[in-house]
Amino acid sequence: MPAISPKKPYRVGRSRTGLGLFATKPIKKGAKIVRYFGPLLDSRKKKDDAIENKYLFELNGRWTIDGSVRKNVARYINHACRPNAESDVMPRKRKVVIRAIKNISPGEEINYDYGTDYFKAYLKPIGCKCDACERKRKKKRAEARAERLRLKLKAAKKALKEAAKLELKAKETLERSLSHGLNGNSHHPTLNGNLLTGRHRTSARRVSATQSAILPKPRDNQDRQSLASA
Ligand SMILES: [Zn+2]
Repeated sequence: MPAISPKKPYRVGRSRTGLGLFATKPIKKGAKIVRYFGPLLDSRKKKDDAIENKYLFELNGRWTIDGSVRKNVARYINHACRPNAESDVMPRKRKVVIRAIKNISPGEEINYDYGTDYFKAYLKPIGCKCDACERKRKKKRAEARAERLRLKLKAAKKALKEAAKLELKAKETLERSLSHGLNGNSHHPTLNGNLLTGRHRTSARRVSATQSAILPKPRDNQDRQSLASA
């Protein structure tokens, strides 16, 4: 880590992605924080144009700052999608200054938006780790969890409803078979059914036996009548 004068309102420290630049004193909105500096690369020179690193800051079509030098403290500033600072680019002066766009409190990490090109090339493939994106991811995960729970509950409710339906059906079937058995109309050869049906048959036989004992009388009378008339 580079040595930073205690007069400066920042220090290099541990951040979510590795190292970052943190405020050590209150920084007012609009105040210059630190200059982004390094050797100027001329895209017209083949040697310069071949240089490739994460700290290149393009000023215009021709000039680029190579910020990979150790003394460039601004290179520790991480990207954020909702930053508290910005890069103030002055192409004519071939100068870039990082400036606060909000009041920054001591302890707060300083960050600025690296721009769409950098985001697409380096951050999108690995997933942006800035606070705003982390919050968004957390919210999405919580929503997904809630949705999974909602579906689980829905399935459980459905299963309960199905079970209740089945129970009712079984109860109805049992009641029907029990009442059929009591009426003796059961077609199933159950023990109860057979016994009850047997009793019915017995009484039916008893009735016809009584009838046959009574019935011959009028026939006798008829016979007598026919005999008398004869
Ligand atoms: Zn982000």
